[in-house]
Amino acid sequence: MTVPSRASATAEPGYRPTLVEPGLVQLANNEVPDGPLPGAARALAAATTGVHRYPDPAAARLVDRLADHLAVAAGRVVVGDGSVSLCQQVLQALCGPGDEVVAGSPSFELYPVLSRAAGAVPRAVALTGGHVLDLDAMTAAVTPATRVVFLCNPNNPTGTTVDRADLDRFLDRVPDRVLVVLDEAYRDFVDDRAVPDGVDLARSHGNVAVLRTFSKGYGLAGLRVGYGVFPVPVADAVRRLALPYAVNALAQTAALASLDAGDELRDRCRRIGRERDRVRAELVRAGFAVPPSQANFLWLPVGDRAEALSAHCWRHGVLVRAFPGLGVRVSVGTPAENDAFLRLVRAPESPPD
Ligand code: PMP
Repeated sequence: MTVPSRASATAEPGYRPTLVEPGLVQLANNEVPDGPLPGAARALAAATTGVHRYPDPAAARLVDRLADHLAVAAGRVVVGDGSVSLCQQVLQALCGPGDEVVAGSPSFELYPVLSRAAGAVPRAVALTGGHVLDLDAMTAAVTPATRVVFLCNPNNPTGTTVDRADLDRFLDRVPDRVLVVLDEAYRDFVDDRAVPDGVDLARSHGNVAVLRTFSKGYGLAGLRVGYGVFPVPVADAVRRLALPYAVNALAQTAALASLDAGDELRDRCRRIGRERDRVRAELVRAGFAVPPSQANFLWLPVGDRAEALSAHCWRHGVLVRAFPGLGVRVSVGTPAENDAFLRLVRAPESPPD
């Protein structure tokens, strides 16, 4: 006799991150190649002596600093141990059995996993032929049972974006009782001015939330800290569903210092954006129909060849992420790392048997 698990806990395969192997070129997880911002690294080193104490459970300094930085009331800001934790807390706060959650497909893989874990039913809406979130189809997928819509902008794994006019039209058509979560994990890399700032939309709409993270542009993936801006009642519920001390002391320190390093962040993200555009141009020249990306990764829509291509890269020491049957996502690394990837995709060997 074994102890039974709740069906929703075992039905999902769960999140399967690419196994990180030392010594390989890591272009699978959308991290930046260059570590924390220099100011954050210095603050972290100084903070390690204090880790025998529990951190501030409310992360009050960080919340206040974010509220200031984003020009929103502190009561709307919630921090979490990664924005993924905030995704989970939102779903737990808003959804119960039979409720529905709409998201693009492919989009961030955890939306359906966490929706099911919360007892809700994920509704996946295919992207357009241009690999962009299909806002008309997503509007049509909203039913009386819909509680949350996730809009990942730029979208992971395609890097594509929806612009302000289309998003405004979408928000006009979605009922106010549905929370629209704009997941802006990759916002720091956006250089197209047509892409709206989600926080502006959260200010003007009572049913819009924004999620962001220190894992990507800020280079703090290993510390696990993200934040969200929510309507006040949702923020209160999301905050209550956090574990105590969820954001650890080093994460709070590094995040605060990172917010003081806006110029360093901008320079870094501009450089990564230029490198992204160079790699895309090379891939297009090599015959891959890579859509324009506003994130720190690119999407190769190679369909059935996805797994063979990623296995080929892996055998030659480069880790990328395969989405079986759909494509391969490659993060922007250093120029040398990107060149190693480009050499491999330009000279594919015969697929493995
Ligand atoms: N949203 C998106 C779209 C992501 O790609 C990721 C990480 N891959 C996250 C949220 C979660 O990021 P984190 O938990 O590291 O803040």
